[in-house]
Amino acid sequence: MARVYNFSAGPSTLPVSVLEKAGAEILDYKGSGQSVMEMSHRSKVFDDIIKEAEALMRELYQIPDNYKVLFLQGGASAQFSAIPLNFMNKNGKADYIITGQWAKKAYQEAQKYGDVVAAASSADKTFSYIPKTKPEDFREDADYVYICLNNTIYGTKYQELPPVGDKVLIADVSSCALSEPLDISKFGVVYFGAQKNVAPAGLVVVIVREDLLGNARDICPVMMDYKVQADADSLYNTPPCWTIYICKLVLEWIKETYGDLEGMKKHNEEKAKILYDFLDSSEMFKGTVVPEDRSLMNVPFVTDSDELNAKFIKEATEAGFVNLKGHRTVGGMRASIYNAMPTEGVVKLVEFMKRFEEENK
Ligand SMILES: *Cc1c(COP(=O)(O)O)cnc(C)c1O
Repeated sequence: MARVYNFSAGPSTLPVSVLEKAGAEILDYKGSGQSVMEMSHRSKVFDDIIKEAEALMRELYQIPDNYKVLFLQGGASAQFSAIPLNFMNKNGKADYIITGQWAKKAYQEAQKYGDVVAAASSADKTFSYIPKTKPEDFREDADYVYICLNNTIYGTKYQELPPVGDKVLIADVSSCALSEPLDISKFGVVYFGAQKNVAPAGLVVVIVREDLLGNARDICPVMMDYKVQADADSLYNTPPCWTIYICKLVLEWIKETYGDLEGMKKHNEEKAKILYDFLDSSEMFKGTVVPEDRSLMNVPFVTDSDELNAKFIKEATEAGFVNLKGHRTVGGMRASIYNAMPTEGVVKLVEFMKRFEEENK
C-alpha cells in the first residue's frame, strides 16, 4: 500500500491507526452488528460515542465545567453568521481583528447584523504578521472581540492573546485545534471546523461559556441557536454521527500517543522546527511569515520565481509529497503539518527540498 505524505490544509491527513480502527469497525461497531454510519443517533451505542468524544475533548482541553461543548454541522463558515446572531446582542457592536481571509469573511458576515469594525489588520503586508493591539483599540461597548487564532492560509499564529480586558473574546481555532494546550477560560467561545486537525469534514465543534447562551437574536435560525443545541446535547437534529465517531478516535489517539496537549505541542514544535530551520538556512526557499508569529501547523514558503515554484510542486507531487501548492490567493507553497503528519513526513520533505535546491541552483 502506497500512502503519500499529504500536506493538505484541509481536509487533511488523519492518523493511520485511526483509519485502520475505523476500517476494522466499519461493518460491526463493537458487536452492534451495524456501522456507525448506519445507526440511530438516538441509540445507546451512539450516545456512548458522542459522550465519550465530549469527555475526551473536556479532558484534553481541560475545559471548565461552565462551558458547553457542541458538535454541530455547517462548518466553521456557518459560525461566521451564528456568532453575531448569538452574541452581538447587547449593544449590537463587535470588534474584529483581520489577520487573513477567514477573519475577513467572518467580519464581512457579521456586518450584516450590526455595527462591526476592524480593530486591527495585517492586510498591509499580506497578512504575514499578527498585528499588535492595545486595550484602547477595542470599543468599550463592543459585545465581543473576534480573532482567528491560527491563520491557515498565511501561516501566522497568535503567540499571545490580544488584551481585551473583560470583554468577551471569541476565537476561530479551526487550524490549530488540539495542537497545543489552550486556556479555554480566557475565551467566551472557541470553535473549530474539524477537517483541519480533528476529523473528516462535516463537523464543527463549538465550546461556549454557559452564561453567554440564551440571548440569540429573534431572527437567529434555530439550527444556529447555540442554546437550542446545548439544551439538546447537540442532538436537536441528526448530528454528523460518523464524523463525531472519527473525532472520538482521533482524541483517543492523541491521548494514547502523546498523553496530553503538552505532549502534542512538543511533537508539533519539534516537527515544525525541522522545516523552519531548513527554510532559514536555504538559499532557494524562504518562509513568508515574520519568525515571531509563525504557525506550527501551516508553513507557507516561496522561491523567487513562479516557474521554480511550479516545478517544485510538480516534482514533489511525483515524489509522493502532495497538496503543497499555496492557497490561490498567495501563490508559492504551503506545507500543512497538522497533528497527524508524522515527523518522518517533514524530514523526508526537507530532504527532498535540499535535493531540489542542489539540482536547480
Ligand atoms: C478552513 C477554515 C475555515 C472554513 O472552514 P469550513 O469548515 O470549510 O467552513 C474557517 N476558518 C479557518 C481558520 C479555517 O482554517
